[in-house]
Amino acid sequence: MCCEKEQPEKKYWFVFCDGNILVDMKGMTPRGGHPFSIPFSIEFPLAQEMDCDSLQVLPDMEAVSCVACSVPHVQDVAAGLSFVGLRESYKLLPKNMYDMAAKASELLYWNSNTKFCGACGAPTRRQTVISKVCTNCGKEIWPQVSPAIIVRICKRQEGKEWILLVHARNFKRNFYGLVAGFLETGETLEQCVEREVKEETNLKIKNIKYFGSQPWPFPCGLMIGFTADYDSGELHLQDEELSSGGWFTLENLPEIPEKISIARRLIDDWIENR
Ligand SMILES: [Zn+2]
Repeated sequence: MCCEKEQPEKKYWFVFCDGNILVDMKGMTPRGGHPFSIPFSIEFPLAQEMDCDSLQVLPDMEAVSCVACSVPHVQDVAAGLSFVGLRESYKLLPKNMYDMAAKASELLYWNSNTKFCGACGAPTRRQTVISKVCTNCGKEIWPQVSPAIIVRICKRQEGKEWILLVHARNFKRNFYGLVAGFLETGETLEQCVEREVKEETNLKIKNIKYFGSQPWPFPCGLMIGFTADYDSGELHLQDEELSSGGWFTLENLPEIPEKISIARRLIDDWIENR
């Protein structure tokens, strides 16, 4: 019996260039009002040769193969395709496509930063989608995730309620968010919440409770959300990291973060469930 030739398969292509992701503006799979989708084709969607070194096979999405790759620069983008910022793509892509784009971005970042072994300096080689091994000393390397806490602090007095909102110096726009910071070595998440709040606001808090978490692919974070209540202390903002902030009531809320962030989920939850 003659062997049947395997049919070439359409794939989702997660193509990155300089922090931007290639999207299909024709909306081949429009769902839920999202105008864009991820390019879905047999062939690589850009005319130019791709940098095969950074090619990654991702887990399937809806039983369809996914490929991630980064290109150093873009010469030619076909009509209907465009590069948009990964953050911006949250609003434009269906949620499952954005989630996979975030994963793809993190894996590409990991891949490009682990070409050599951190212990002995020899080249590494790929073992699985999410692991490499050093070709000399055998050290295994997995994608790094940097955990950071984020906390919503509320204060109640005489039937009134306030939320603590701060503007960090590294915020790109003029909105107010929540106290956040990176986990330090040897710390529990709860200790991290207490320390960051003390460092950034001089406040003591109580009733620290887990809220939820969110991958934050800028470039490889995990935001871990908590809620807490004010306990004691005068508000004094750490000038180095925060430019302004204070206690806000529902009636005088400033501009708050965009829907992409867990900060917004924490604030929305307070607004809805007070
Ligand atoms: Zn090594």
